[in-house]
Amino acid sequence: MNKSKHKNFERELPSGYKQALHLDARKTLVGIVFNLISFAVLAVVMVLAIVFLDAADKTSEDLIPARLPHNLIALSVFAISMVGYIVLHELVHGVAYKALTGERLTFGMSWSCAFCGVPHIYTYRKAAVISVASPLVIFTLIFIPLLILLFFCSPIYFLIFSFIFGLHLGGCSGDIYVLYLLLLKFRGKKTLMKDTGPEQFFYVLEDVSNSP
Ligand SMILES: [Zn+2]
Repeated sequence: MNKSKHKNFERELPSGYKQALHLDARKTLVGIVFNLISFAVLAVVMVLAIVFLDAADKTSEDLIPARLPHNLIALSVFAISMVGYIVLHELVHGVAYKALTGERLTFGMSWSCAFCGVPHIYTYRKAAVISVASPLVIFTLIFIPLLILLFFCSPIYFLIFSFIFGLHLGGCSGDIYVLYLLLLKFRGKKTLMKDTGPEQFFYVLEDVSNSP
């Protein structure tokens, strides 16, 4: 086994740890709350996109393509990008987890979210933070220049990709909450997280505070 990868996780929960929190996206309340947050974020992004277009006087005829084929192409781009984004988001989690642990991944979909996890190990905080944050960071860095470009080139594609960007930011609400827990709440670098995909279990050292 690759030693540097093994430093990022444990196969068994070492002694001296206690479970600090269990998060389950499949629980009704958790699923509903995170989906409501996602829709709210998406709505804010779309309102901002329309306000920006309106301020630049780009909401008029440019936005309503007269020809149906144009609409069909735009709709296809929209559908493919949306599904593609969801798949790529989970793949980026997977690539990060794989690079840092080398362990077997799990991918899937529950009623409330798509997910990727590394269910058979306990991942140390640093590797968990990198894996959870990767899609948020990478896609935000891709979307912002893309949206700036589209804003000037094509109002309709600007709106389409604003929607996908809103979906991205809103859809990352669960990841952002996990990052908040890892970065601010369970800050000890020995903190372990077991990520089964829809569920995350957080473990902290039992004794001496949870300090690094
Ligand atoms: Zn995610």
